[in-house]
Amino acid sequence: MTTKQIVSTCVYCGAGCQILFTVDTEANRILEATGSEGHSNDGTLCLKGRYGWDFLNDPQILTKRLTSPLLRKNGRQSDLTPVSWDEAVNFVSQRLTDIKKTHGPDSILCTGSARGPGNEANYVMQKFVRACLGTNNVDHCARICHAASVAGLLVSLGSGAMSLSVPEIEEAEVIFNIGYNGPDSHPIVARRIVRARQKGAYIICADPRRTETARIAHKHLQLKGGSNLALANSLAHVIIAENLGDQAFIKDHTKGFDELKKLVQKYTPEYAARITGLNPDEIRATARIYAASKHSVILWGMGVCQFSQGVEVVKALANLGLLTGNFGRRATGVGPVRGQNNVQGACDMGALPNYYPGYQSVTDPAARAKFEAAWGVPLPDKVGLTLTRVPEFVLHPPDKSKQIRAYWIFGEDPAQSDAYLAEMRETLEKLELVIVQDIYMNKTAQYADVILPSTSWGEHDGVYSACDRAFQRIRKLIEPPAGVLTDWEIISRVSTAMGYPMKYRNTEEIWNELINLCPSFKGATYEKLEKLGHIQWPCRSADLSDVGTPFLHRDGNFATKDGKGVFSCAEWQPPVEVENAEYPLTLSTVREVGHYSVRTMTGNCRTLRNLEDEPGWVQMNPKLCNQLGVYHGQLVKISSKRGWCITRCLPTDRVKPDAVYMTYQWWIGACNELTIGSLDPISNTPEYKYCACRVEKIDNQAWAEKYVQNEYQTIRRNMAVTFDRKGGGKAA
Ligand code: SF4
Repeated sequence: MTTKQIVSTCVYCGAGCQILFTVDTEANRILEATGSEGHSNDGTLCLKGRYGWDFLNDPQILTKRLTSPLLRKNGRQSDLTPVSWDEAVNFVSQRLTDIKKTHGPDSILCTGSARGPGNEANYVMQKFVRACLGTNNVDHCARICHAASVAGLLVSLGSGAMSLSVPEIEEAEVIFNIGYNGPDSHPIVARRIVRARQKGAYIICADPRRTETARIAHKHLQLKGGSNLALANSLAHVIIAENLGDQAFIKDHTKGFDELKKLVQKYTPEYAARITGLNPDEIRATARIYAASKHSVILWGMGVCQFSQGVEVVKALANLGLLTGNFGRRATGVGPVRGQNNVQGACDMGALPNYYPGYQSVTDPAARAKFEAAWGVPLPDKVGLTLTRVPEFVLHPPDKSKQIRAYWIFGEDPAQSDAYLAEMRETLEKLELVIVQDIYMNKTAQYADVILPSTSWGEHDGVYSACDRAFQRIRKLIEPPAGVLTDWEIISRVSTAMGYPMKYRNTEEIWNELINLCPSFKGATYEKLEKLGHIQWPCRSADLSDVGTPFLHRDGNFATKDGKGVFSCAEWQPPVEVENAEYPLTLSTVREVGHYSVRTMTGNCRTLRNLEDEPGWVQMNPKLCNQLGVYHGQLVKISSKRGWCITRCLPTDRVKPDAVYMTYQWWIGACNELTIGSLDPISNTPEYKYCACRVEKIDNQAWAEKYVQNEYQTIRRNMAVTFDRKGGGKAA
């Protein structure tokens, strides 16, 4: 056996851990993964990092790898048939050209991908959309997670990213976790929180559930779901009322203080207590502890962003840092901890409808002129459509001329991951053209007119951006299956066939083009990345002495136009859909540590797959279980106005009696059958964290068990063996 060892970046979360892989080069298989000394992980890994590479060895547990382009040759109702790359590229380019000609470029929307492909592929996709198609309709799954952080922090601080580095977390003195449970979403970041605690940091956790973070916290604020903004405004109220703020910092480095003071005046702890359900003294104590340190850090995740007031909560959290001068030094600031491995990168690369790469606005004439000169074509000046508005613009467009007709879905699975799945299925059915580019068959791919199979993480080179703005290399570990192409090559071929040639030879060429267009990335060359291991943007010089920027806003100089931090505030509003007589409980979607996203990768890893299986679980308080007469492991029906599914009861006193929680990777216990499609008006992120639901006992458990078995086998058969659009097809 001939083996080699290669270091690469983990594909499973924004912590960006470095992994040392041992590869059997003769068998073209990965043998082992151990922690390597990365800046965020210090040689440690969580279980996904350690065991999550097995899907590359193609054990075919859930689905088979896609290894050939597939096309419905005879229209929408015909089966998917393997075709050559020339035929697939010709089909895609011809259909997109026709749709563009007939309905205009804005009738097409393409996604980037925050998962395996890497920054270069995202750069190429957004360039294709803007320069070849002529629209800014490009977006990706940040829209359903941290888009609120980007939108909110850009207003408050001028930069939408984490202001500090992952290693600095353990140097903090106060860590305020809100809507964030690191042990589930970023175990190695959570380790830093534990270490900080061991060094004496005070840990606060605001979460409706008694999570692992809550269990290690000194103070757990078990607030009511949907009340984050009332809490944040009340903390600001106490800091102002008790004169706990940093007056010099406020005066020299911020603006908008008077408006904030006026708005939060009514958010006394007593007033906020009525909304949050917290004890007013607990709110006061939290504000005092947070304000007392110059190394206070706020970390948040989906429990902040996936609400219809997500952007306002992000701004309200930034207000707390601005009030107390907790910016501009090591181990302080704000941490919107990015979930997926490269969601920071897909944003960095401009897979967003309003930004070119490097957060340069599409409405800024100077930025547009620069990209037009570099790409050699005029570019659209109108902000594009967000992907969460695709259902609206397919099913109920404001007028026919604005209808979305073609959707190129690149490394995403909206038929599993987007809110209100019934509406998403109707959307996919109605679209004139659905292009899916992925490594596995998934629920969305069943609606595809054409499937473009690509290389996976581990089979190509590139760069990812970690949650703390660290560019790090990913490296090819094994040879890909015959018949697949790299993502950037697929997009380049389509672009070339449509008359806008892209002739890249490798990822470094793409990377060099993009960093030369982005001043804050310019110094992060491949050569430097090889030498330094990681570079946190901004990094403006290729000189080796410029190692990047571990923390932002040094000395209170913010990235806004005038360098000032901006206090921005809003009134709390209740969630869009609240409990009622028919649906008396609330549902929130949450993460599970062993699985990643829609589990196409982790579900195909033997060790991880064994941790849990269909139909998943609904977390319920034991009092609620008693009330309904259901017990651990029993199948229950859960429904909302929009749909229903069957899952297993998981009694736990970590949740309150009036709220239930589900993870979103299960095909049968699919919580997004229930979730609501209402969006934050600014970020367009759905309110995944709050809708009204009902749980019912199923008396005939034998029937329910059989239903689950049958559904599972049918879905697996459709995904793994047949390519029949309607399912129920024949074995290959
Ligand atoms: Fe991978 Fe995240 Fe686990 Fe690190 S913490 S090993 S990046 S999944």
